Amino acid sequence: MNHIGWGGLTYWVSEAKGNEKIGVGIRPYGLHAGNMAAVIAYPYLLCERYEDINREKPEFRLQIWLNDIEPVKYVGADGTRESANAANMYPGSTTFQFMPAPNGHKGSLADFWQPVIEGVVRGTIGARFPYVKLDFRRASELVGTPEFEKTVLSAMHHSAGIGRVIGFFTQTPIQGKKGFVWPLCPDCHAPVTDATLKKSSEGLLIDGWHKFMGNYHFSQKAKNLSWAMQFRMLQAARLAAEQPDLWVIGIDHFPTNRTSLMEHLAAGLGIDQYRGDFLHVPLLFADGSKKLSKSLGNAVYMSPQELINALRKNRNQGLDVKHAPVSDDIIVVGADLLPRYMTGNKEVREAALKAKMAAYEKSNKRKAFLSDNAPGAISNKFVVRTVGVPHL
Ligand SMILES: [Zn+2]
Repeated sequence: MNHIGWGGLTYWVSEAKGNEKIGVGIRPYGLHAGNMAAVIAYPYLLCERYEDINREKPEFRLQIWLNDIEPVKYVGADGTRESANAANMYPGSTTFQFMPAPNGHKGSLADFWQPVIEGVVRGTIGARFPYVKLDFRRASELVGTPEFEKTVLSAMHHSAGIGRVIGFFTQTPIQGKKGFVWPLCPDCHAPVTDATLKKSSEGLLIDGWHKFMGNYHFSQKAKNLSWAMQFRMLQAARLAAEQPDLWVIGIDHFPTNRTSLMEHLAAGLGIDQYRGDFLHVPLLFADGSKKLSKSLGNAVYMSPQELINALRKNRNQGLDVKHAPVSDDIIVVGADLLPRYMTGNKEVREAALKAKMAAYEKSNKRKAFLSDNAPGAISNKFVVRTVGVPHL
């Protein structure tokens, strides 16, 4: 069932037992207001409403999924980022699992962002609702589950049929023939878009080659490879495997009238239907019309508590974050909740951002996402980091 906004939240908690499994996902490359609405503010408000209505402390199990097997960037069917659209989203590079962390930090982009996301979730939800169990999961943990293997098998064997489902529900024709799941080259972790699949007595065998510093051929079992998945395949496989009671999601991500896409995908992939509910989080807007979402490349400066307060006050309305400074490369989180390595060197980064902003203001580039208030907000204490990670 689809529950929408404040009314949906209230209805769901009034029926809840208090120990349900609740899931939410995030691409591990930032934490701005658009992310925080679904990952932090709405789960927080859900716990708060549960407590108010039922006069009991919530003991939900909240799973925060880092979508590390999504490509760091999507491109369209012709391989350029600009041509990516609702239906045609192909990997432009490796995944968050293998993209190195920036600025000489150890590990992957997922390793780099996990402590940030975890710190803010624990510092807000964990601090206020100590009996809520917080569980940080990575989508890569799904590789090797029966649901994942079935998804790979169906998406590779029947990509035309899966494409028709996506094309129908997004009302956008599929242009590419690159499928929706991609093994990563075991040598360099680039997505291999023309791999073939064989069934063997020992399970699925993936055969492919990748040209990078010479030809590299591989033939391995699906479960021994690393994978990239389009977010729809990931979501279908994850919901089938994990069956949370509730999945919290930005209303723009799978528009409410299109969760039927998930049902048809599960049927097409031959995996279990999701039996739980969706809770759709209201949209955030800046300057009246600029939508903030998880992936549109917009970001707004806001602390978790400010956002929670604003969403509580606005209830069922789409929230207009007025005077919100917006930029395509600013990531904002609660600075007081961050690990120290993220907050060091703040002045240097802010100066670099100011210079970049000034150059941007003077340039001929379209200013669609930049508000008049952007320069002033750079001194906001919640601005802790800027990155050049491309957004779709
Ligand atoms: Zn390679």
